[in-house]
Parts: sequence; C-alpha cells; structure tokens
Amino acid sequence: MNTLIIGFEWGGPLKQSMIDWLYRHGLMRENNYHSIVATPCVCAKNLAVEYALSRADKFDWVMFVNNDICPIENTHKFLELNTDLACCKCKFAGAANAFAEVDTFHTALSAIKIGIFRHVPRPWFMYEYNKDFTSLINCDCQRFANMAMDAGYTVGNAGWCDHRHTGQSLCSPPG
Ligand SMILES: [Zn+2]
Repeated sequence: MNTLIIGFEWGGPLKQSMIDWLYRHGLMRENNYHSIVATPCVCAKNLAVEYALSRADKFDWVMFVNNDICPIENTHKFLELNTDLACCKCKFAGAANAFAEVDTFHTALSAIKIGIFRHVPRPWFMYEYNKDFTSLINCDCQRFANMAMDAGYTVGNAGWCDHRHTGQSLCSPPG
C-alpha cells in the first residue's frame, strides 16, 4: 500500500521504537512523513485529513501515529486486516473494554483509505454528545468510523500496541 504517515507530535516526537517499527515494516520512506502539532486533537486530525487529501495524487492510505504509541510483538497484525479503516488496539489502564467490539475504531495507530474522506462529510473528527451535552456518546474516532460504515466502508481492529497515556479513558475530550 502507498501510505502517507501522519505523526501527531503533541509535546514531542514519535517514540524511537515506533519510528524503528515503521521502517522495519517498510512504511517509513522518503517524503511520506508529515508531522502535526496542532491542538486540540480533533482539530489536528481534521488538519491531517486536509493534508492527506492534498497528497491524494501520491498516496492511497493515510496512517495516523500518536507520539505516545509504542509497538509490541503483535502490533503489525492490524496491517493484515482487509478493511478500509484498520486500527491497532491500545493497551492502557482503565480501558480494558475499549476494544470490545469488532468495529471499534480509535485513530492512535490506524490506517485509513484516503478516498473515504471524500465520501464522508466534514467535520470528519468531532466528539459526539447526547442532545443535552450531558454525556459523551462517541469519541471523534468512533463517530468517524460509524459514518464510514454508514457509507459502506469496512472497519476492523487487530494486534496490540502500548499507549503511554495514563489516567484518562480512551479518547476523552480534550483528548
Ligand atoms: Zn477514539
């Protein structure tokens, strides 16, 4: 796959083990890495999509990599999924059930077919609340995945990675 890699370098670069992993799997090449430091994370992800669409003549896929992700032994399993959106499951405290469903999707380490962003309306990434805004229904990633599924695309998760975030549930605002 011809992949553009977006590194979300909030507060620092990607972990060296992650960079090594990207090279080892032939994903990191010349001129296919773009760093984003904007906050909050939903704005960063929407900016990432705009950038990916601007490079869509060269790339079919975009891979999102958060700077706190560390690969472990079976992280590469998500690369073997045959789905239009594919993500690696994240290990971290307080979120044991974060990947309970087969179509659970979080972008921390994920690959998305760029063409999807032309078929799913903006904003691609936005937290979804109930109508009174008294509870969060979906993180921005899952909301996007649900819209993609409604548009006929497939979603999968596989493998595990380590996520050095602590104390917060997965993808809680401000993320
Ligand atoms: Zn999420």
